[in-house]
Formats: sequence, C-alpha cells, structure tokens
Amino acid sequence: MTPDEFRRVGHRVIDWLASYMERVESMPVRPSTEPGEVAAMLPDAPPESSEGWDAILADLDRIVVPNLMHWQHPGFLGYFPCNASGPAILGDLVSTGLGVQGMLWSTSPACTEIETVVLDWFADAIGLPSVFRSDAEGGESGGVILGTASEAALTAMIAARDATMHAHGATDPSRCTVYTSEQAHSSIMKAAGLCGIGRANVRTIPTGRSLALDPGALREVIQKDAASGMLPSYACATIGTTSTGAIDPLRAMGEITRAHDMWLHVDAAYAGSALVCPEHREMIEGVELADSFNFNPHKWLLTSFDCSLFWIRRRSDLLSAMAILPEYLRNAATDAGSVIDYRDWHIPLGRRFRALKLWFVLRHYGLAGLRAFIREHVRLAELLEGWIASDDRFVLCAPRCLSLLCFRLAAGDDATRTLMERVNASGEVFLTHTRVPDWGPTGEGDGAERYVIRVAIGATTVREDHIRRAWAIVSREADGVLGAGV
Ligand code: PLP
Repeated sequence: MTPDEFRRVGHRVIDWLASYMERVESMPVRPSTEPGEVAAMLPDAPPESSEGWDAILADLDRIVVPNLMHWQHPGFLGYFPCNASGPAILGDLVSTGLGVQGMLWSTSPACTEIETVVLDWFADAIGLPSVFRSDAEGGESGGVILGTASEAALTAMIAARDATMHAHGATDPSRCTVYTSEQAHSSIMKAAGLCGIGRANVRTIPTGRSLALDPGALREVIQKDAASGMLPSYACATIGTTSTGAIDPLRAMGEITRAHDMWLHVDAAYAGSALVCPEHREMIEGVELADSFNFNPHKWLLTSFDCSLFWIRRRSDLLSAMAILPEYLRNAATDAGSVIDYRDWHIPLGRRFRALKLWFVLRHYGLAGLRAFIREHVRLAELLEGWIASDDRFVLCAPRCLSLLCFRLAAGDDATRTLMERVNASGEVFLTHTRVPDWGPTGEGDGAERYVIRVAIGATTVREDHIRRAWAIVSREADGVLGAGV
C-alpha cells in the first residue's frame, strides 16, 4: 500500500468509524449471534490474490458490526465501561502508524520519555503522593503503562514474591502467602497461580457490611500464617470492587502490611478514574503506605483499551525480579544507567507507544474536561439511585460507588434474573449481574447472598435521556415480571 493509497483508504476508514459513532445508538446493544455463526460467514481459505477495499469495508458492515456487543452504545450499562473517544482512537492510530517498539529508551526515546512525563502528570492529577513520581527523591519510583489491571496485579506480585524470598533467604515461592478481600477481582487469584505462589496460598479475607475488607481479620490471618512458617508477602486492597464498588480501608491495611514487611498493592481498576476529582480522593486515604497503585483509564477515562497505569514505589524491586540483559539489547544509554528501559518494568519485552493516546486524551479534554465527564456520570447514577430507592418494587443492595449501583426486585432472585433477561432482550439497554451478600445501601440488610443487577454508567456517549429511557425500560419490564408472577 503506497502512502497515497493509504491516504485514500484511510479517509474512508475514518469516515466509516465516524459514521459508526453516529449510528451506534440505533443498533441493538447486544448481538443475537449464535456460536459459530460468524465463523460460518468467513470463507474456508484466505484470498489468494488481493481483494479491493470496497469488499473489505462492506464486510465490516455485513460480518463484524451485526455480531458485536456495542460497548460504546449509550445503553451499555454492564460490567464496567470500556471507553473509546476520538482523541484516544487517533492516538492509537498514530501509535500504530509510527510502528515503533519502545522496549528500550534507545529504541525510541520519545516513547519512553512521554510515558514517564504523562504518568507523572497523572500521579499529580489523581492525588497520588509525590513518592510515586519518577523524579521523587532517590529516583526509585515512577509509572508505566501496562495492558490491563490483571498484568499490574501479577507484576506487583512477582516483585513482592522476590522481595519476600530474598529477605528470608527462601527458595520456594509456595511458602509465600497473599491476602485480599473475598470481594477482590479474580485476577489476584490468577496471579498467585501464575507466579508460583499458588492459588491455595491466597487468603480471602472476610468483609463487613460495606463489603470492604475487615482489617482485624487480615491482621489475624497474617499472624497465624507467620506463626506457622509461611511468608506473608503481598496484600491487595481494592478501591472499587467489581461487584459493588466496595472500598477497602487502605490506611489500616497499609499499617498492617508495613508491620509485617509486606507489599501493599492497590487495585483501583474502575474507581481510580474518579480520582481526577478531588472530592473522591477520600477513598485513597492512606495511599502513601502502598507499594504499587494501578487504575485503568481504559475503563472510565475516555481512553480506548488498552491502557492501565501502574505506579511503583521502588523500581529496584521490579528490576531485580524482571531485568535481564542479553548482549543483543546492550546499548550505551542502558549501560550508563541514565535512562528508563521499560522492558524491565513488566513481563513482555516489546511495547507499543500507548502513551500517545493518553497524551492526546489529556490535551484534548484537559483535566477540567475529564473531571466534568466523571461528575456527570456520578450525577446520573445518583439520579437513578433516587428513582430506585423511591420505588418499593425494588431494593438497593449496596452503597452506590460513584457511577456503579446494585439493585434487585424485592420479589427475589428468580424475578430479578428474569427482569434482567427481559431488559437485555429489549436491545436498548444492556445490564449484567453479580451475587453478593445483600446488606443493603446502609448495612441494614440481612446479608443473605442474592442475585443482583449491576448498573455501571460510563459510556462516552451516555446522557440523562439515556438513563431516563433505561429506567423506563427497567420499570416497564418489572411490571411484566411481577404481573406474570415470576
Ligand atoms: N480489578 C478490578 C477491581 C476490576 O473490576 C477488573 C475488571 O473489571 C480488573 C481488576 C481486571 O481488569 P483488566 O481487564 O484490566 O485485567
């Protein structure tokens, strides 16, 4: 493809994407695809000779679009959002177009240095203490962009495991133990399995009525493990759990982990985006006691997947676990020790220029624009919360966290499940569910585990009229479910 042909086709692709953005709201948010249906639309073998772009673009409309879950649809209220925005898409396009490999500083200095600076900007923008900035005293900290929160949890756990084993002169990682709440994301369990600590060595600590980790229970379990010869190594505090958005008590956890020379990782995958607003920073009170901190702008900060920000307090912990220097990667800057080589900060060697999209997002919206985006979604969630609270067919099941709320039908699990299925079948709204101890919004429930519907507001395009429409559909379908006596 010549640059001229690229220019012509590229304009058409951008036009196609812009038209997708305009049309997405008119499509069913969830596809009705049967397993194997998409594969059956593809030919048995790849084309032997070049196909024209008319055919390629037509297949986007014929094969791809009708078989997608439309995550950018304003009626998408399931899981957590996965934002795309114009500036982020353009940043990704430029990154791919430049085609650079940022594994070492020397393989593209701009790729490394823009990333370092943008993560320092972000550390300040979300209220992290300056000990996480790359220019903090001692030159030991800083941030890096990873693909996902799961990678961040694993990367931190590998560093913690090595630090613990080194401190105790141990050689067997299965002596290390990991602590997190029973409401934490499954990626913590997965990381322990992957890094040799083992899933059996993950202690899931009970939660209280707010579904946040109980620090007294954490202390007890750690003491018991230490007394029996295990090596307590890593604790993960979740700021905004996946099911209900519960906030673990960071300061209390930090005091415990400090007392036992353990690593404290903070998983703020979803809720971290809201930290751009100073009024939400209470939830990370005590963060100065953390060893690593992570959140995903690709969830709720207008930055297309993948973009997960990870800050570390002592980069030497990562380097001693990850750094390895074969002859073919040697270069003067690395040898002089005067640069960051991000390949030593994570598992892969190669890395994309992901900082570009974050840089574009920041420069396009400005911090004020990002704050307005978050505040509007929190306002919409408050509005919805009020409607649910004042309708006695429904029960709120946990305190609202930012733009996430959980509710059910008072009539019980089967009715709630049927309601969600009927709402999703409407094609206008998509909701997902979880099962949690139902303590209600103020902790006065009975704590029975129930099937509850989650609503996570955060699509780039969502407005108040969409949330009003979603509530009208939920309300209409609830009448249907209750009328049918489910
Ligand atoms: N942690 C929390 C609290 C999450 O909610 C999620 C996903 O929703 C994750 C971790 C995993 O995120 P990722 O897909 O970036 O690995």
